[in-house]
Amino acid sequence: MKPVLFSFNDAELQKFVMDMGEPKFRAAQIRDWLQRGAPDAASMKNLPANLREKLDLVAQTLPVKIVKKLQSGDGETTKFLLELNDAEQIECVLMRTTYGNSVCVSSQAGCAMGCKFCASTLLGLKRNLTPDEIYSQILVAQWELRNGDVKIRANGDANNNDVSHIVVMGTGEPLQNTENVIGFLERANSELNISWRRMTVSTCGIVPGIYDLIKWGRPINLAVSLHAPTDELRSTIMPINNKYKIAEVLTAADEFTNLHNRQLMIEYILLGKKDKNGETILYNCTPEYAETLSKLLTGKNCMVNLIPWNAVDERDFVSPSGNAVHRFQDILIKNGIHTRIRRERGTDIGSACGQLRLNNKKD
Ligand code: SF4
Repeated sequence: MKPVLFSFNDAELQKFVMDMGEPKFRAAQIRDWLQRGAPDAASMKNLPANLREKLDLVAQTLPVKIVKKLQSGDGETTKFLLELNDAEQIECVLMRTTYGNSVCVSSQAGCAMGCKFCASTLLGLKRNLTPDEIYSQILVAQWELRNGDVKIRANGDANNNDVSHIVVMGTGEPLQNTENVIGFLERANSELNISWRRMTVSTCGIVPGIYDLIKWGRPINLAVSLHAPTDELRSTIMPINNKYKIAEVLTAADEFTNLHNRQLMIEYILLGKKDKNGETILYNCTPEYAETLSKLLTGKNCMVNLIPWNAVDERDFVSPSGNAVHRFQDILIKNGIHTRIRRERGTDIGSACGQLRLNNKKD
């Protein structure tokens, strides 16, 4: 396993460089490239060619390496399959939007939560990611924005090539790795100047983790993956519901969002199933469930993001029809619940979170 330059502190980096027979000032030059997300020493243009070659032989720049990069046809979305130093794989996604450049990062390799519709949990939890490993996903995206082939920039602004928004919603449950996620967000705020209000942490409903965020006290956004309006239904697709019931999760989430005067994000994947005759039936998105969900959320400061399900070969759900999706949304809106249908980004480059990693394992 090669040493990772990014993980050295300044004194360690200087020692490493001087042990290679190089002057001390090279360490500062290397640090500057690392902060910009240089994927290898070959990209460090102001270093002598022989040092770049030597460095690439003996060390790795970041704690994540790009294994695969997929660009959507419209150029707005880039997905990265990344390998960690111990050969575990994770994904991150860069989305160029009208409001800025948003990166969805992973917080764990694999996931222990076992949600029945999700690809990321099929191989179980491998391990928590370190703050460095989460932070490096932002640097990979930042490098892509500044040096990649796609020239689309948010708001058409050619200078807008920085990451402006962070969503911790990739592989893993962030609140099973709260300390490292907080460490990462603190660094992104202080070193990349990304404001708290442009950060979102998503949870499947780890109640003590939500209280940890309350104790931490930063005014970030919170998203709860709800996916069902009753405990009975939710427990069939999300095992975590056997531990923390919907009422408990929403009470903690309300406390968090009221403290910071933020709107709570509710994520709701719309699932269908095939019946014995091969007909699609609605699983969690019948009109009755839309009414139940409306009652559950009435009076809350929240936004429901409806996400039509993305196919995962290993799972036996199907995507409901466009009509069913719109009918579900119409009922929520009629009942006064802020609701939008999440625009699917990059469906041409692999859909659900975790699929890129899974498909690569099958190659
Ligand atoms: S949906 Fe999120 S919490 Fe659930 S298994 Fe997938 S990655 Fe884990």
